[in-house]
Amino acid sequence: MVKKIKNNHLFWDGCDTVELAEKYGTPLYVMSKNTIVEECRQLQATFIQKYDNVRVAYASKAFNTMAMIKLIENEGLCLDVVSGGELYTAIMANYPAEKIEFNGNNKSIEELVMAIEYGVGRIIVDSVQELQWIIEICRERKTTANILFRITPEVEVATHDFISTGQKDSKFGIPLEESILFALIEQAIATPEINFYGLHFHIGSQLFTNETHLLAAQVALDLVKKIHERFDYTIRELNYGGGFGARYKEGDERKSYAYFLEPLMALTEQFCSDNDLVRPAIVIEPGRSIVAEAGITLHRIGSIKEVPGVRKYVAIDGGMTDNIRPGLYEAEYDGIVANKAEEEAVEIVTIAGKACESTDILVKDIALPAVETGDLFATFSTGAYGYSMASNYNKLLIPAVVLVSAGEAEVIVKRQTYEQLLQNEQIPESLR
Ligand SMILES: *Cc1c(COP(=O)(O)O)cnc(C)c1O
Repeated sequence: MVKKIKNNHLFWDGCDTVELAEKYGTPLYVMSKNTIVEECRQLQATFIQKYDNVRVAYASKAFNTMAMIKLIENEGLCLDVVSGGELYTAIMANYPAEKIEFNGNNKSIEELVMAIEYGVGRIIVDSVQELQWIIEICRERKTTANILFRITPEVEVATHDFISTGQKDSKFGIPLEESILFALIEQAIATPEINFYGLHFHIGSQLFTNETHLLAAQVALDLVKKIHERFDYTIRELNYGGGFGARYKEGDERKSYAYFLEPLMALTEQFCSDNDLVRPAIVIEPGRSIVAEAGITLHRIGSIKEVPGVRKYVAIDGGMTDNIRPGLYEAEYDGIVANKAEEEAVEIVTIAGKACESTDILVKDIALPAVETGDLFATFSTGAYGYSMASNYNKLLIPAVVLVSAGEAEVIVKRQTYEQLLQNEQIPESLR
C-alpha cells in the first residue's frame, strides 16, 4: 500500500502530504507512480504475458498528460485517445503512432486527418459518416487506415446510467441493424484504402460484474461468425473496451483483472474453436482502473459553517473544478484530514467546494477529527477523471499534478497561472 500514516501525517508513496501541500500549494493532485506501475504489471501478468496475441491500450482520457503517456510506454502498454488534443499530447510525448488507437463518437475531419497523417495504429469507427470521411482522406493521400467498427452491443450494465454506454439507445457505436452494420462492413472489405480489422465495444464504466462483458463479447463473436459466413472474411481483432471498476471508498471490493479476463478469454477461445475460426487478437482498454487509486487530491480547509441542527459545512479551496464526479454522477469519495491522520473522528461534516453551485459538494457526511481552518483535506481515489475533467469555472486555476515515488516528488503539470487564464482573451477595438 502506498498509503501510510506517520507522525499524525498522511504519507503517499513515501511522501509526507503535509510537506507536499506546503511546497507545491493546494489544491494539488498527487499521483503515486508505484501504484500505476503495479496496475500495469498486473495487466502484464494476468493478460499480456498469459495469452498470445493480446494488447492493452490505456484509455488515456482518465488521466492524459505527457508524463503519464511516457510511463505507459515504459510499461509496455498501447494507448487509446479520443480527441485531437489527446492525440497531440501523445505526439508531443513521442508515443509510437502504431500503438495508438483512436476512439470517439464524433471525430472531426481535422482530427481524422491528424490521426491518419501521424499514422495511428487503429481508428475505431463510430458512424457511417466517419467511414466515408476516412476513405476520402486516405484516397487524397494515397494511404490506408486500419479500422475497427464500434458496435452497440445492446446490453444494459449495472452502473450509474450516466456512465453506461452499451445500451441500444446510446450515442456511442454503430447499431446492430443489418442494413447499417453489414452494409458498412461490406464497404470496408471492398475498399482498398481500408484495412478492416474487426469490431469494438465499450459498454460502460466502473463495473463490478463480468456478466455484461461476457454478453457483449458473445454478440461480437456471433458477428465474427456471421461475417465469416457472409463475406468469407476473417476478423483479425476484437476490442472488448474497458470499464473495470476501481475502489473509491474504504470497504469497496475491487474485482481482479483475472475475474473479468479469464472468462472472457475462455469464452472467446471456446467459441472460435467450436466454430473453426481463427481466434482474433483481443484488445482491452482500461482507463479508470489503472489510475483511479493512484491519485489523491490535497485541499486546504477554509471556511467552516455550522447550520444549527442541520449540518456543518467545511469548505475547501477547490471542488467541482478539480473533481466534478460528485456533481456529475453522484460519485462518492473517502477522505482524511492529512495533518490529523491519527486523530479520532469526533464529528460528521460535509466537505463543500468553493464553486458557485449547490451541487459542488465533494463529500457528504464524513466522520472527521475536529477540523479547523488551515487543515489539509486529502480525498482518495481521484486519479481518474479528476485532473482530466478539471475546468476553469469561476476562473479557478487548474491545480498542479505531482508524481510521487518512494519519497520523491516531481511536478508533471505546473499550476495554471492567472496570466495563462487570460492568454486567449482580448478586448476588441469597439469596447476600448
Ligand atoms: C472511457 C473509455 C474507456 C475506458 O473506460 P474506463 O472505465 O476508464 O476503464 C475505454 N474505451 C473507450 C472507448 C472509452 O470511451
